[in-house]
Amino acid sequence: PLSMPVPDCYQVAVPSPLRRLFDYLAPAGYSREIAPGSRVHVPFGTRELVGMVVGRQPRGAAAPGELRAIQAVLDAEPLLPPALLELVAWAADYYQYPLGEALASVLPAALRHGGDYPDLRTWRWQLSALGHGLPDPAFPRAPRRQALVQLLRERPRTGAELRAAGIAAAVVQALAKLGLIERCADPTTGCGAPELLLGEAPPSLHRDQQAALAAIELHGYHAYLLHGDTGTGKTEVYLRAIEKTLRLGRQALVLVPEIGLTPQTLARFQARFAQTIGVLHSGLGEAERARTWAAVREGRIGVLIGTRSAVFAPLPALGIVIVDEEHDLSYKQQDGFRYSARDVAVMRAHRAGVPLVLGSATPALESLHNAACGRYQPLRLTERPGAAAAPRWELVDLRNSRLREGISARALQAIARALAASEQVLVFLNRRGYATTLLCHRCAWIAGCPHCEARLTVHLGARRLLCHHCGHRRALPDRCPSCGGADLQLLGQGTEKTEATLRALFPDAPLVRIDRDTVRSRGGLQAKFQRIHDGGPCILVGTQMLAKGHHFPAVTLAVILNADEGLMSPDFRGSERLGQLLTQVAGRAGRGERPGTVLIQSHYCDHPLLQLLVERGYPTFAERLLAQRAAAGLPPFGALALVRAEAASAARAEALLSAIRAAGEALDAEVQFLGPLPAPLEKRGGRYRYLLTLSAAGRTALQRLLPQLAIRLETLPEARGVRWSIDADPQEVL
Ligand code: ADP
Ligand code: ZN
Ligand code: ZN
Repeated sequence: PLSMPVPDCYQVAVPSPLRRLFDYLAPAGYSREIAPGSRVHVPFGTRELVGMVVGRQPRGAAAPGELRAIQAVLDAEPLLPPALLELVAWAADYYQYPLGEALASVLPAALRHGGDYPDLRTWRWQLSALGHGLPDPAFPRAPRRQALVQLLRERPRTGAELRAAGIAAAVVQALAKLGLIERCADPTTGCGAPELLLGEAPPSLHRDQQAALAAIELHGYHAYLLHGDTGTGKTEVYLRAIEKTLRLGRQALVLVPEIGLTPQTLARFQARFAQTIGVLHSGLGEAERARTWAAVREGRIGVLIGTRSAVFAPLPALGIVIVDEEHDLSYKQQDGFRYSARDVAVMRAHRAGVPLVLGSATPALESLHNAACGRYQPLRLTERPGAAAAPRWELVDLRNSRLREGISARALQAIARALAASEQVLVFLNRRGYATTLLCHRCAWIAGCPHCEARLTVHLGARRLLCHHCGHRRALPDRCPSCGGADLQLLGQGTEKTEATLRALFPDAPLVRIDRDTVRSRGGLQAKFQRIHDGGPCILVGTQMLAKGHHFPAVTLAVILNADEGLMSPDFRGSERLGQLLTQVAGRAGRGERPGTVLIQSHYCDHPLLQLLVERGYPTFAERLLAQRAAAGLPPFGALALVRAEAASAARAEALLSAIRAAGEALDAEVQFLGPLPAPLEKRGGRYRYLLTLSAAGRTALQRLLPQLAIRLETLPEARGVRWSIDADPQEVL
């Protein structure tokens, strides 16, 4: 008997929490090959989902059982090129996230939900063959029709141009109906002619910048760490390297932490290049986002600036990847697909064989370590083009001092003096971090762990102190165990009222608050920045956001209300973050002619790390921290991963993690486990949160174990009713 050919089936990544691909037959009657990277509609359980074809295999290799067919193919050609598909697959594996969900999250929402690929062509009206045959004048007694024909004789025009010329839509429709005019689409235009590249003449580079630019090799993968204080001209180096890239006919990808805060940077890119700069960030509308994404994909845009998720943007002719402020925490996604855009950028540049520039005034310890090991080439900028001298630091001892909602008398006096001199003041509140520890305001005793170089974390609900490194616990004391004082404070509290206090104390000075809430409305933020740039006395109050990207030339005084939270953080990255933050805040002040002062309030003015930072600067401070990390086997010298679990009862969350720990210990002896421990914010939204920390000497052991644990998490009976996630290379270990 004749054997029928065994039909192939397609492997489809479906947005589902299940970590596997699903097999489908081609749609009935569909004869073309469906290329990987194409979106398809597939039946999934009782639903219909948008998935992406990632491969094809013989029917016999598929899971046994009845195969269902793809319902519709949404893309005639693949939406994601193979290289990008592979990059997402790598990241999904590395960060232990289901491929279907990962792919869905890198697509613009409009496309993710199955929307049509945007049509970027510009449609114009032109005379048809019939129209070209009209006599002149064509409509002597119909002046509006005559005007339209006359305009189109000159050249094709868009609907908008015709409207602007006073031609009503009805007239256009009438002539179209007569077959005298027709619509035509222009072809794609590419990313602009190279001779029309620049919109302004760039300044001549100073010596450091020249050396850095000359070192950046544009052919093949090379990684550079561009380290220079705020204002030393890193952005100018990016602009020059991008210019060279564009001249090679290639595209540039620039990642920035937060677009809303870098309008100045964006404006500089727009002024420099005489072509459209693509911008991708979460504040855009769905349609706009999809259009920019498509324009990049078609090579119509030469420079793309974007936040985290832009690292997955489809640039077909990628020529350089730049990550500005590479140390910034916002590059790490903190939920769902927990990737680090900086680390994915490194992988992307490596795979694409293009250069990578990581820039920062305060590089992450990981990056400094990579530079020290020769994986990144360090490029150093030290000259400041035309800027004032580096700011002066001053430590203000808070021990036993009288505070007005966290503001010392010394700081109030300095603020008053600056305002009186018509200068601007930046007051910085460290409001991130719920991780509180206990501090005695009288003697600065802090609740430390007797077994670790670490602070105990306050768990108010259970009224206890807990060490997140070894699990040591004790009851919450009522009095200071060191001096007997009763003024025990939670670090990290009390900042809420600072704004109101400042308003009350300085009623005449305009006060501008900048934080996550105010950044949501971009227009409002621009107006605020404008007000600050107009000059005049003013107080700026803000959180971490103030330390990012923006320059405030009239600010001569920066006050950091509390350095202790960073210094005493139970997170081992706390002091690194503090050093970055203080250095970044300092870099914002005094960039005009007047030198700036930075006041740092702390209960620990003689803390060796704080002293080192203030006296020797960030690089020396970072070296010391790296030595400590090496001694403790912490990243970048060891690798970490977290399994988080939350459930309606603490017991359930804890039980799942205990089961996972037992499974992990049986599977791999190279990985150490800590926990399960309750998260510092143990209960949130009625759910109890627990953590299991995994550590190993290197990433390899963890990467071997994590996929096996993920399978257990999917199938263990303890997982019922528990929400869990895996975090590889966590940035916040709390
Ligand atoms: P960074 O990115 O390191 O903060 P920028 O590139 O923004 O530094 O430079 C700081 C300021 O100095 C900007 O206003 C910039 O226009 C100016 N600048 C940078 N390089 C030069 C140069 N070579 N000549 C003149 N001005 C420069
Ligand atoms: Zn401990
Ligand atoms: Zn005390």
